[in-house]
Amino acid sequence: MLHSLVRPRNRSCARVPERPDSKRRRAHGQGYDARVLFRETFPAGAFACNCSVLACDTSKEAIIIDPGGEVDRIRGIVEHHGLSVKAVIHTHAHLDHIYCTRKVVENHGGSICLHKDDLFLYDGIEMQASMFGWQVDSVLPVDRFLEDGDSITFGEQAALTLHTPGHTPGSVCFEVKDGDKHIIFAGDTLFRRSVGRTDLPGGNSKQLLRSIQTSLYTRAPDSLVVPGHGPNTTIEEEAAKNPFVTASRAL
Ligand SMILES: [Zn+2]
Ligand SMILES: [Zn+2]
Repeated sequence: MLHSLVRPRNRSCARVPERPDSKRRRAHGQGYDARVLFRETFPAGAFACNCSVLACDTSKEAIIIDPGGEVDRIRGIVEHHGLSVKAVIHTHAHLDHIYCTRKVVENHGGSICLHKDDLFLYDGIEMQASMFGWQVDSVLPVDRFLEDGDSITFGEQAALTLHTPGHTPGSVCFEVKDGDKHIIFAGDTLFRRSVGRTDLPGGNSKQLLRSIQTSLYTRAPDSLVVPGHGPNTTIEEEAAKNPFVTASRAL
């Protein structure tokens, strides 16, 4: 079950994940489903990168995807729900997706995870920042290099890594289970009716289209897609309506 989507800043309207003994679940008569997922997604930083905090509802173990900003908001979520951050994971290493990784890890711990093919961007954070006239701290070392098919576990939940190069060489998407549905965190690979740009260092437009067709359009059609920026969509919607890459287009 999904507890929340994009949520206003006012924490007074925050919904707390239901407890195992909640009346509603008991009413279903099927016992407690330990695989219920807690999620908060919100735009973070100057480029409004969609950052997500996911947690296993029973263990309170959590992962954070793409902390591009909102360090205080992340702290508020972690403290309010008593979460233990196991990993900080990245769809890719553009500045807007890694901008606050160091601060978040210093605040909450967790392993820094990234595909190795984006290490040149991660280690080049100062160079990326200088293009905008920004000053940034150096990065902390990557703890785990992600490969296609890797699982990042948090409690009884897991995020599956899908390597989807094209926007950057080390771009990945993460798929998690939400009850009997799936959520795909697509980074800057696939957006609602758009795709990621490929004119930046390491970008490759053919590779991007191939990644979307072979690694994303092949997922469950009703999977919810949470892109790196902008509104959510679904796999079937994009396969039918995305003007840049349709499911039927041969590569
Ligand atoms: Zn990007
Ligand atoms: Zn981005």
